Amino acid sequence: MIRVAVWGFGAMGKGIVENILEKNETLKLIGVLDINRELIGKDVGTILGREEIGITVLSDPERLFNEAFPDVVVLATNSFVENIIGSIKLVVKNHINLITIAEEMAYPFYTHPEDSQIIDSLAKRYGVTVLGTGINPGFILDTLIITLTGTCKKVKKIKARRVNDLSPFGPTVMKTQGVGTTPEEFYKGIEKGEIVGHIGFQQSISMIADAIGWKLEKIEETREPIISTVYRKTKYIEVTPGMVAGCKHIGRGYMNNEVVIELEHPQQIKPELENIETGDYIDIEGEPNINLFIKPEIPGGVGTVAMAVNMIPLVVEHAPGFYSMKDFPIPRCLNQ
Ligand code: NAD
Repeated sequence: MIRVAVWGFGAMGKGIVENILEKNETLKLIGVLDINRELIGKDVGTILGREEIGITVLSDPERLFNEAFPDVVVLATNSFVENIIGSIKLVVKNHINLITIAEEMAYPFYTHPEDSQIIDSLAKRYGVTVLGTGINPGFILDTLIITLTGTCKKVKKIKARRVNDLSPFGPTVMKTQGVGTTPEEFYKGIEKGEIVGHIGFQQSISMIADAIGWKLEKIEETREPIISTVYRKTKYIEVTPGMVAGCKHIGRGYMNNEVVIELEHPQQIKPELENIETGDYIDIEGEPNINLFIKPEIPGGVGTVAMAVNMIPLVVEHAPGFYSMKDFPIPRCLNQ
């Protein structure tokens, strides 16, 4: 049995905990951490709307690590390296393996080279493995693409699109994607850094380039409003024609002044109202050309939960150090 603690009991953390509880032949949940006062001290089962399981949400990670001895911590608190590097160091210094779904940790070797080096050195010194994973970044627009290139004799250009539906998401996502703004407000939000679109293009593009040996000159990103021509409404927001229904975010990697990797992630509410089909689309120009489409797209929530949990046994068995998905055994479903 692998002893697992989950750090961050939000939307993803809850899904991860439920999935761990289902895999009770291999995984044993031994603790849950969060800073939210409404959760601390309450039984994890009760919060999930099921029977009590005798594990309460704690706020003090060191206490949990010293009393319950996890083999692995799954960290699902925040997207950014600078906000979670303290947590990562603490886990590693307690000789515990770590999986994180933080977008920037999927491949920080290009955006945060020094922090990546420190995490790798620490992990090796303390004899544990650290892995950044997730659905995107972590799988769809990087690991899956890299895997497909394994069937090519040569690759010239990569274009991929993840077209998804933001309708189920709440106010935070609506804000960071600019849904419900006017086009002017959208551009102001981008300038102020309040509207960010997708986090992960720098990571996915540099991971693909490193995997196939391309030395990129630069990675550029553009964000444009998706302006609705129809009325759209979800539980959380209303958009009238002329307003912004989402963000079309594109990342481009250049080599010899040409775009060689182009990743697109248009995210909007109710795409079907303008006949837009959601899906994951990958086009590789090479020998042979490859076109893959998955319709509808692999759902982000379930996909992230599954990736984080399925990687647990692989992380426990792996040699110490800090790794991305491109350097790990291929993911597979942990069925038990
Ligand atoms: P969420 O906001 O629902 O949950 C985050 C939880 O972490 C909250 O309960 C919060 O109280 C807790 N938390 C925050 N800081 C903490 C700290 N220092 N100590 C303890 N608890 C803390 O977010 P979510 O939807 O669960 O997502 C978690 C993170 O994972 C986000 O940053 C999200 O962007 C990222 N994510 C990545 C992927 C991917 O594919 N890589 C997919 C989904 C989510």
